[in-house]
Amino acid sequence: MRSTPSALLLALSALLSACGGPAPVLAGSWKHTVAAVDLPARAPVPQPNVVLLIGDGMGLAHLTLARRAAGGPDLRLGIDRLPVTGIVLTHSASSPVTDSAAAGTALSAGVKTGNGTVGMSKAGVDQLTLLEGLRRQKGYRTGLVVTKNVTDATPAAFVAEVASRKSEAQIAEQLLAERVDVVFGGGSGWFLPEAAGGSRTDGADLLARTRSAGGRVATDLAGFRGLDGLPALGLFATGILDSTRADQPDLAAMTRKALDLLAAAGGPFFLMVEGSQIDLAGHKSDVDYLLREMFAFDLAVQAACAFAAARADTLVVVTADHETGGLVLTADAATWTTKGHTATPVGVFAGGAGAAAFTGMMDNTALAARLAALTALAPFPAPDPGR
Ligand SMILES: [Zn+2]
Repeated sequence: MRSTPSALLLALSALLSACGGPAPVLAGSWKHTVAAVDLPARAPVPQPNVVLLIGDGMGLAHLTLARRAAGGPDLRLGIDRLPVTGIVLTHSASSPVTDSAAAGTALSAGVKTGNGTVGMSKAGVDQLTLLEGLRRQKGYRTGLVVTKNVTDATPAAFVAEVASRKSEAQIAEQLLAERVDVVFGGGSGWFLPEAAGGSRTDGADLLARTRSAGGRVATDLAGFRGLDGLPALGLFATGILDSTRADQPDLAAMTRKALDLLAAAGGPFFLMVEGSQIDLAGHKSDVDYLLREMFAFDLAVQAACAFAAARADTLVVVTADHETGGLVLTADAATWTTKGHTATPVGVFAGGAGAAAFTGMMDNTALAARLAALTALAPFPAPDPGR
């Protein structure tokens, strides 16, 4: 929910932003709620629940802009309230500037790979991911919650292994084969044949297949609200979700629902939540879009913190895969300096069980290795032995 700044300033901001030029920074121009819930750093526990939240393309300037827009430089976001912080290096095996596939693979499998590659090492070896290893070897339940296609690079990096992130039809099949307990996001087109309005050219209807195998499938808000158990697959658009639409669940609602379903099912869980469109806003040099997605992501982080604050067995880690847009903030303007990604490091913010491990300067592969150590997943990194 946003407030209503001066129409003239808004129009000017939108115009300049759309041109990629500097946009005025309007302190307090957006309404954003930060609940007074503090998640302390707690002692590690055996088999902690892990909630890993990734702001795709979320640099430190994006967070600074969000703070200023929501109230001014002294405002603290939900992300800021996490007690442990560190710095994460993001380069890939092929470039100082990573893409989401290589960065996702670093965060999921603990290995550097080339840009565009999902779930495989630079040498083409399929790698075991945290989600896969915890599910298969440690009895974890698992979940993926995103606002772009569930087959897009970041979620794909946790469940798929393909040489190109563009192989979304194949990624959809690999995602289902991994039997992820809860999957929420967009991209139903890659689960449906062309004859049913989808994008699959092989005629397969993966939603029908999921239903006949006993899975719950939701494709609209009513279906989402009615989900009452696992496994649950919720795909609320053929393509990416739209956070301005009231007829789709927002990221915080999907995060809360996933946490509720996973907790009710019992046993430890690993949940990855992605603020997927922060990156798109950066690619489009669009400050309004960026702020909308930043606040939606921060509300999802707050939902995870509220869940974890009420129990001693849950770790919450927030990070980004890279920075997008080369966002530069001066005293009164926000300026995008590239349409692509940059090589600048990103932040990591943690609270809950074992959070103290996420301090200092670390490589993105080391962040994954620390998650593996806290969940006793070993060896890691490791080749994927297969399902
Ligand atoms: Zn990315």
